[in-house]
Amino acid sequence: MASKEQNPKTRFSFEVLPPLKGTGTESLFRTIDTLKEFNPLHINITTHRSEYVYDEQEDGSFTRKRLRRRPGTIAVASAIMNKYDIKVVPHVVCSGFTKEDTEYMLLDLQFLGIHEVLALRGDKAKDESRFQAVRGGHSHTTDLLRQINAFNAGTFVDGTPIKHVGEPFTFGVACYPEKHEESPNPDSDLRYLKKKQDLGAKYAICQMFFDNQKYFSFVERARKAGVTIPIIPALKPMAKMSQITQVPKTFHLDIPKELADEAARCKTDEDVKQLGIEWSISQCEELIAHGVPCIHFYTMSAVDSIRQIAERFW
Ligand code: FAD
Repeated sequence: MASKEQNPKTRFSFEVLPPLKGTGTESLFRTIDTLKEFNPLHINITTHRSEYVYDEQEDGSFTRKRLRRRPGTIAVASAIMNKYDIKVVPHVVCSGFTKEDTEYMLLDLQFLGIHEVLALRGDKAKDESRFQAVRGGHSHTTDLLRQINAFNAGTFVDGTPIKHVGEPFTFGVACYPEKHEESPNPDSDLRYLKKKQDLGAKYAICQMFFDNQKYFSFVERARKAGVTIPIIPALKPMAKMSQITQVPKTFHLDIPKELADEAARCKTDEDVKQLGIEWSISQCEELIAHGVPCIHFYTMSAVDSIRQIAERFW
């Protein structure tokens, strides 16, 4: 079994979600309390757009209201940083945000002394069939990166100068070993990843994958395409029966046959959880042996599994 001593270079990082509106920070802090002992390189905090929801009225009509289910990314990042003294990396997304909204987010982060972000396009709204930028917002991460670069260079989106240009923001971006769902082919996707690197991305964090070969071959193709930044592998242990069919649909990736076959033999969610833990452990062993700089974990609904996985390497 691998250990920290055998490979002191591999660290873990964790992605957390801001709490659902109105639910408080108790569960979020429990997550960090569980994972902090593994000395995370950083904790990422996701950002979620507002969406429209429809409430049925007594007369059968519907009213449309705007709802942000998970607000609070900046506050959560600040709370984690202050409570735990762990580096935080909030996500900045185009989806649902205007350029001005993004500017105010950058200003808030600057005031808090948070200077690293993960820059993303963000998910489409639930009621949309394809991604649509809000009026005055960005269509792609490349445009968002240009905005951050202009901010770093001292210019607001309206072209006026920033009087106090603070410490510049550094940023990572997302990448997809199994291709982004909208990309016509893997080469096109890689071309845009290279563009994000050219615009200053310091590293790329992968969409989750369950087959390390997909990651290794992606890294090889990326290097050939001129992508030289670290490509951080990302894992999420399976924790429920339903995920075997839901995860491929939601994240546009394949579950390896061996994992799917073993999951089909499981009788309970607890069996799947144990399988997910063992599967992720063997993924980590191979990735660590391969010398990856960091392994990123998506913690949603998987905190206890991740604790058990990380313990094996600690
Ligand atoms: P882009 O880089 O804009 O790419 C989107 C698609 O457009 C790709 O097919 C790409 O090949 C293509 N493309 C890229 N640039 C251009 C261009 N200039 N012109 C034309 N085509 C282009 N979603 C959230 O809502 N909140 C989060 O906090 C969040 N965190 C995430 C964290 C990670 C590590 C990952 C992997 C994903 C995360 N997502 C999040 C989901 C992500 O925002 C979606 O997958 C989104 O659909 C794509 O984001 P992107 O930054 O890769 O977009």
